[in-house]
Amino acid sequence: MEIYPPSLEKLIGQFCTLPGIGQKSAIRIALYILRSNRALAEGLASCLLEVKEKISFCPICFNLTDDDLCPICRDEGRANGTICVVEQPGDQIALEESLAFRGRYHVLHGALSPLDGVGPEDLKIGALLDRIDKEGVEEVILATNPTTEGEATASFLAKLLSDRDSDLKITRIALGVPMGGDVKYMDRMTLEHALRSRIPITP
Ligand SMILES: [Zn+2]
Repeated sequence: MEIYPPSLEKLIGQFCTLPGIGQKSAIRIALYILRSNRALAEGLASCLLEVKEKISFCPICFNLTDDDLCPICRDEGRANGTICVVEQPGDQIALEESLAFRGRYHVLHGALSPLDGVGPEDLKIGALLDRIDKEGVEEVILATNPTTEGEATASFLAKLLSDRDSDLKITRIALGVPMGGDVKYMDRMTLEHALRSRIPITP
């Protein structure tokens, strides 16, 4: 038996389909919207429709954009010759906030995951190869996540790219101890990567 009126149950059901939102959170959000004034519901509804209508993928890097090209591909001040490959648009935004990279990006829109049926053809790999040829790329930075899927994707790309062009510089973002971390609480895998990725220090 449904506890709430059908229209409210329908809304809860819709929220439940969203990633990271379980039944309890869906009920809490739906009841919050119900209690709030009409302007909140109208604002949410119009924003949902607006992003669907206006946001698309940049045809060069597959970042999100509400214009023909994304702001980074439009920016002539960015360094050409280096492409940083990430899994999702959110990853690229986080890297931008580090202010440590001024080159170009390429968003794969996922990572290799054979168990979930995600293969190389499901990612924006073909477009990356085209860009490397067209843009005279000298270095590709692999910034996929340090997960099983992210590591598999980085290894796959490293082999694919070096087989195509042995002169292309292929790098992987360093994996290891985070800033403010404590070595004794790090897991074995993290410390193993940190030791492997160690760099000389100049006094
Ligand atoms: Zn772009």
